Formats: sequence, C-alpha cells, structure tokens
Amino acid sequence: MGVSNYDISSTVGTLVSQRLVRKLCKKCAKKREFTDEEKVLINQIGERYNVKFNLEGKYTYDAVGCRECNNSGYYERIGIFEILSIEDNIRELIVKDASTIEIRNEALKTNYKPLLVDGINKVIDGITNLKELDRKLVIY
Ligand SMILES: [Zn+2]
Repeated sequence: MGVSNYDISSTVGTLVSQRLVRKLCKKCAKKREFTDEEKVLINQIGERYNVKFNLEGKYTYDAVGCRECNNSGYYERIGIFEILSIEDNIRELIVKDASTIEIRNEALKTNYKPLLVDGINKVIDGITNLKELDRKLVIY
C-alpha cells in the first residue's frame, strides 16, 4: 500500500478485528454438556491468553436443523471482536517492524482480548458453538 509502519502507528489509535459467526437456531439447537475434550480445549485456550473461563453449570448446543433455519441449525449471525488499542508500547513494536506474535504478546499484558476469547465466551453463553467457531478461526 506504500504506507510506512510509522504512518500506520501514528495515525491508528485502535485496531478492531471482527469475524461473523452463525448463531445457533434457538428452535432446534440440542442442549448437551461439554465433553471432556471440549473442556480441555477451552481451558487450554484460557491458559494461552491468561483468561479464566467458567464452565460451571454451562451447557453447549449442537446444531440440528428445522424449518425455521432452513435445516442449517443456524439462524442469523453475530460478530466476534477483538480490540487492540495502540499504546506507546505497541506503537514502538510496530515502528520496529515486530512480528504479529510479539505485538500480540505485548498486548496481552494489558487489556487486550483476542477474537478467540470473545468467541469462546459466546460459545459458553450458548450463542454459537465450537464447531462454528472453528469454521472461522482454527481452534483445534
Ligand atoms: Zn432450526
């Protein structure tokens, strides 16, 4: 684009990423407990990003399909977000042309919550499920 790293870092104050995931159809979604494998996965993601997910008393849903949702099991979409505000520490890394991983690790020290964390929260809230999340963000 012909824009230097410095130009970007000095003009952009906040970066927002968004992915759209399908919401489970409330009419036909089938409630069940999280499997042990799913619990392990969610806890691993929590550890990676230093977030504690509480699965106590929470259920997940399998997509089934009915007339309401055209047999897809999903109905409408919802955005999952991550917001990265460019503070001085991040700005410095961008100017130094640091890797995405370095920038992400630095951001995690502040209040940055990655897409995956927002996504998992929406799975725990029963809005979508791990299968749908995995279609948009590779999680397994
Ligand atoms: Zn349905």
